[in-house]
Amino acid sequence: MQVFGLVGNPVGHSLSPPMHEAAYDALGIDARYVTFEPGVDDIERAVDGAAALGIAGLNVTIPFKQHVLDLVEPDPLAARIGAVNTVDFSTDRPKGYNTDAAGVTRSFAHHDVPLDGRDAVVVGAGGAGRAVAFALADAGCAVHVANRTVETAEELAGSVEGATAGGLETLDRVGEADVLVNATSVGMEEDASPVPTEHLHADLAVLDAVYTPIETRLLREASAAGATTIDGAWMLLFQGVEAFERWTDRDAPVEAMNEALRARL
Ligand code: NAP
Repeated sequence: MQVFGLVGNPVGHSLSPPMHEAAYDALGIDARYVTFEPGVDDIERAVDGAAALGIAGLNVTIPFKQHVLDLVEPDPLAARIGAVNTVDFSTDRPKGYNTDAAGVTRSFAHHDVPLDGRDAVVVGAGGAGRAVAFALADAGCAVHVANRTVETAEELAGSVEGATAGGLETLDRVGEADVLVNATSVGMEEDASPVPTEHLHADLAVLDAVYTPIETRLLREASAAGATTIDGAWMLLFQGVEAFERWTDRDAPVEAMNEALRARL
């Protein structure tokens, strides 16, 4: 039996175990997916221990994504983003990937939203915002990053090809954009939207990284404006799909994983 898992602190709320185990069941793979919650200073020992125990693959979440970058051989995209969320232990030195980026591009592809040559606005410049900005730029978007803390947006845009940056007052650029991604946590704790309604329009495709609640205020208002809306469970699904495919070299059973995920949201 192969063992996969998730390291984070905390991980109690994770939807990854049912999502991945649905994939193993669908394809008849003899594997389990378990969660691990090492102390915040114990991640190095945890990764060494996982390798020694023969664990096949780990997902990595808050607060360890940046630290794990230094403990594995990151692929070039993970190195540019500065965070690893997927570790593959099948080689001598574990390899690190950032599948949040594929989670973004595959979500748009699944909804038939083209990205090449499009204007995109990313609101937020934290961990998710970094993955989103690199993913969209690599897919051919001209990216503008708007963030509450302008310096963080500027720092991110400085490392993303062709990107621009500004504070939240630059969200008026959404009015001319084709693609909008919310990569802030706004909308999770309260019924609030990070983007003023007047900027939303029918030619926009909106992905909200927030997935609790599944229908955020931003998505409700975007839908009312006639925009294409993509909820955060798609991004969560496709980062898991991408991790599964990296670990197993097989096409993921996307429908089975999606059903298992949405049954728990
Ligand atoms: P993070 O690193 O802590 O970054 C948080 C971001 O939100 C920062 O840009 C922060 O701006 C901004 N922000 C927080 N409160 C705000 C407010 N009241 N007004 C405006 N901006 C505010 O968090 P993260 O890891 O990037 O996660 C962000 C969200 O994405 C979370 O809801 C998370 O659950 C979600 N996420 C979803 C997926 C998925 O697969 N669907 C994957 C990863 C993350 P400042 O820089 O000014 O503080």
